[in-house]
Amino acid sequence: MQTYPHPFPISRVKIPSRQPIALISEHGDPAAQIGKDAAGGQNVYVRQVGEALAKLGWQVDMFTRKSNPDDATIVEHTPHCRTIRLVAGPETYIPRDRLFEYMPAFVAAFQKFQQQEGVIYPLAHTNYWMSGWVGLELQKHQNIQLLHTYHSLGAIKYRTVDHIPEIAQTRLAVERQILEQSHCVVSTSPQEMDDLRHLVSQRGRIEIIPCGTDIDNFQPISKTAARQQLGINSQGKIVLYVGRFDPRKGIETLVRAYAQLVERSADPGNLRLLIIGGSDPQADDGAERLRIEGIVNSLGIGASIKFVGMVGHDRLPLYYTAADVCVIPSHYEPFGLVAIEAMACGTPVVASAVGGLKFTVVPEETGLLVPAKDEAGFAEAIERILTDDLWAQQVREQAVARVQDNFSWTGVAAQLSDLYRSLLARSILQPPMLRMAPAPTSFRPQIARVS
Ligand code: UDP
Repeated sequence: MQTYPHPFPISRVKIPSRQPIALISEHGDPAAQIGKDAAGGQNVYVRQVGEALAKLGWQVDMFTRKSNPDDATIVEHTPHCRTIRLVAGPETYIPRDRLFEYMPAFVAAFQKFQQQEGVIYPLAHTNYWMSGWVGLELQKHQNIQLLHTYHSLGAIKYRTVDHIPEIAQTRLAVERQILEQSHCVVSTSPQEMDDLRHLVSQRGRIEIIPCGTDIDNFQPISKTAARQQLGINSQGKIVLYVGRFDPRKGIETLVRAYAQLVERSADPGNLRLLIIGGSDPQADDGAERLRIEGIVNSLGIGASIKFVGMVGHDRLPLYYTAADVCVIPSHYEPFGLVAIEAMACGTPVVASAVGGLKFTVVPEETGLLVPAKDEAGFAEAIERILTDDLWAQQVREQAVARVQDNFSWTGVAAQLSDLYRSLLARSILQPPMLRMAPAPTSFRPQIARVS
């Protein structure tokens, strides 16, 4: 991986035969360390899709907001896939709910980059509603095919949180505009498509293309070998959580369910819960981690719970394989990459029956689904998997097959690539833009309002 400091290097040699495309992900930096602060599934999705599309022959530029002055402006992941960090607002981490005001600056920075590089991207695949807004603004100034992946829908998310942020109305309105005005929305599950149709708009094109996983990295290996490498007792039963520390992830539900398991287990010393993800307590996600630690202590179960911290994809397969069950207790989960990563390693999943998890996890075949927040239900489902070895073995095999058949990044990228090609072919029939996008200084975007 090669990185470049400021300013943008203009000497980069472009291969003319490659079609340049832009993936836009304003807060999910594809080059970021995953598992820390707000970095999670969106970062992984954009990076993996970008790299897989580059392998299929595209020139992929992935745009994100620069959130740290020490970060390189350009990170070259492979010769035809790079992350470009645009300056839009202070170069510091800004929570998503306060980021929208910097999106006009993001649009301006994107346009400036196009001018400097002498390129106009004919297609942008935007991620999350704020990048979708950026795409809609670009559409006003250049001939661009616009695809969008939501990653999270305000209409669902706001049902699951106690505090509705000020930005909510704007977000809901923009999410509707994106569906109605972009060329295609890429929904990652049939559930998301239903939600879009019922809660967002009846208009607009939707194609279902799921998220994927790297099946060469996440694959079944020997459980004994994995535990040996991690220095874990080979006899015990291991329950695993992997993900960000965010109240919507439902870690509290898991911890309380685990306490019930410990309570009724004949051999509680044999049980262990590993919680992976998050950074140190001072970081942005530290408040949720401290809250969860407080619950663990008040339940008196701290001795068998380990907060492992952030683990990279290089070592995560060891943890998934070492575990007997991976639990995803989210209150809302648009897709849930962790589910397919665990299943790809042959680990049964117990997940909330919400969003994309209802699509990826097949009850009784690759794991079990439980109503969100149902602590007793989670305890029961986890116990079933831990105590029925024969069935758990069948689940392992079926889980691996399900991921390999449906959720490889290569397969996902091939579907996206076909869609991009069909949209670009159609755009040739539309009148081309003959001039560059207007200078950023003259750009005056409108902030969407709820009608
Ligand atoms: N992840 C990771 N290390 C960690 C915690 C999480 O690499 O310590 C990754 C995890 O493997 C997955 C992503 O972060 O690829 C989380 O994606 P998911 O869709 O499950 O949740 P999101 O973060 O989008 O809510």
